[in-house]
Amino acid sequence: MSNPSNPIPADLQATFDPQRKSWIESANDAACDFPIQNLPFGVFSTASHENARVGVAIGDSVVDLAVLHEAGLLRVPAGSSGAENVFARAALNDFIALGREVWRSVRVQLSSLLARDTTSGATLRDDAGLRQRALVKLADAKLHLPVEIPGYTDFYSSKEHATNVGSMFRDPKNALLPNWSEMPIGYNGRASSVVVSGTSVRRPNGQLKLPDQERPVFGACRKLDIELETGFIVGRGNALGEPIACENAEAHIFGMVLLNDWSARDIQQWEYVPLGPFNAKTFATTISPWVVTLDALEPFRVAQPVQEPQPLDYLRHAGNHAFDIALEVLLHPEAASEATSIARTNFRHMYWTMAQQLAHHTVAGCNTRVGDLMGSGTISGPTPDSFGSLLELTWNGKNPLELKSGGTRGFIEDGDELTLAGWCQGEGYRVGFGECVGKILPALK
Ligand code: MN
Repeated sequence: MSNPSNPIPADLQATFDPQRKSWIESANDAACDFPIQNLPFGVFSTASHENARVGVAIGDSVVDLAVLHEAGLLRVPAGSSGAENVFARAALNDFIALGREVWRSVRVQLSSLLARDTTSGATLRDDAGLRQRALVKLADAKLHLPVEIPGYTDFYSSKEHATNVGSMFRDPKNALLPNWSEMPIGYNGRASSVVVSGTSVRRPNGQLKLPDQERPVFGACRKLDIELETGFIVGRGNALGEPIACENAEAHIFGMVLLNDWSARDIQQWEYVPLGPFNAKTFATTISPWVVTLDALEPFRVAQPVQEPQPLDYLRHAGNHAFDIALEVLLHPEAASEATSIARTNFRHMYWTMAQQLAHHTVAGCNTRVGDLMGSGTISGPTPDSFGSLLELTWNGKNPLELKSGGTRGFIEDGDELTLAGWCQGEGYRVGFGECVGKILPALK
């Protein structure tokens, strides 16, 4: 594989096999987000069993890992927390804390249990009673926030996005500030307002500085926007004062989610100097419910863009550290019969890698914890239809988008539902992220 610091054991390699099929037939559909090659982790409950617990999505179903563990079908290797059922929890943190060897072992065991043609799958496949207890239809599952998030950081790592915003808010001739190409710029966000896909988001109120008035007014945001991002979940933290080396940083990452960093552009433009975004970003951040592991993404590893100037030593890593993840944004007005696809781009365009973000985040000594969420920054591609925010797509509202159902949009209106989607295209299958959805409610009066 193309990352020398991350050798892939043979049993893990087998879980990537494009030919592997599941006895859960819906997982074998080429358009399904959750084939046997994916196996993303999440937290769910059902009407008949209200305790939230850990599950894995496959096809149109969720596999209840707490049930599998109880039935003795899922071994968590010795040396970890032993008899404790880390899957009978309302968050992934206790499972994640067991470390990468355990994540990989559980992936290998699940792939084998769910594969059509392996004998070790027979116990679940051929036991109707167990199958009934362990498999829940996705349509019947309530999906929860997958991790308890101690801290949330958001980066600003797309060169195209930073250039577009710099051109609009400052000066097109010097759109990128000199520090941008030397480090992954970021800010500490609010973990408390991270919500799971499907949660409605209320339009924020705040200070708006209108161009023709000397002082701000207080009122509802008029320039409500999305930021198309991914986020990674820290799987192994670091102690205070002990930075994570760039070369080892991926071993600290459990997996990725889609992330919508809702943004109030008018509040942001007035408040962001000198300390960066505050209320423009703190009202909500939506993430997708399924964490796609870095292991599942391994076959989609690609080279990151060439970095010029060459980064300082602490930000260097050999090999390939970008991932080929197709991304799309859909906007669906409340009364409309159909959604409009407003942007299509790819995570591989990101200038700074997740490993570099984590190395930079910790280089001054900052500790990170299991479950910490790190946003990529808005993912904009090189073409106008690949921009990851309405701010860029409409150039600050100047060029409204035409919607399929009629009407136009400069920014988001009340009742609009925004959906982010993402997937890695394999041969005959795709490793999908599912959806990251949020609908906008009117501001409080
Ligand atoms: Mn952002």
